[in-house]
Amino acid sequence: MSARPVKSGTVVVISGPSGVGKGTICRELLKRLDNAYLSVSVTSRPKTEKEVDGRDYWFVSYEEFQNRVGKGLLLEYAEVFGNFYGTPKDKLDEALAANKIAILEIDVQGGKQVKQIYPEAVMIFILAPNQKELAGRLFGRARDDEKTANKRLSRAQTEIEAAQRFYEHRVINDNLQDAVSEIIGIIETERTRKRTVTNKCNEAMEQSE
Ligand code: 5GP
Repeated sequence: MSARPVKSGTVVVISGPSGVGKGTICRELLKRLDNAYLSVSVTSRPKTEKEVDGRDYWFVSYEEFQNRVGKGLLLEYAEVFGNFYGTPKDKLDEALAANKIAILEIDVQGGKQVKQIYPEAVMIFILAPNQKELAGRLFGRARDDEKTANKRLSRAQTEIEAAQRFYEHRVINDNLQDAVSEIIGIIETERTRKRTVTNKCNEAMEQSE
């Protein structure tokens, strides 16, 4: 799998343990950023009553999902809790070509794949406020976490450990608007940094001509 540099837009991966509020954060990002695109994943998971096909996910059969994998239509895909989920390539490519901020709300297995394909992707891992202590120890002081073990935290812990290698940003969703503002700040800083690097490269190339 070779890396694809992002020519104009910005790929933003949002991951985190289930129930942490990723969906709400992504919808809020879409409201507050006027140039954002939220990727709608394809899944083999059955649709729930509240979900809408094409809005929450593109719901397909297991066979159709595998068919799309075989045709290379997905940027990444993973099995999560026994169901398959993947990011369609076509709409993402369109969004990036239009210089948009493309938000992918996907799990850590998918995040790892995206980072390999787009090394410049902005990787953000969301933590719940009740995981603050755990997060602090895992990311800050890297101490043993024996005493904090319970089902939810231990599941989260596995994901956090996996995320540690690929996610350079961690945001605690203590207050929705604050978390969203923090994420917007991260995205803007990354976009500015990328513009600066591109400008410097262009200047260097002009001078060497
Ligand atoms: P749910 O079934 O609760 O909507 O999603 C289950 C998990 O699948 C969540 O962690 C979500 O982030 C992840 N997920 C949703 N779409 C994708 C996708 O396109 N690719 C990957 N790798 N994970 C996804």
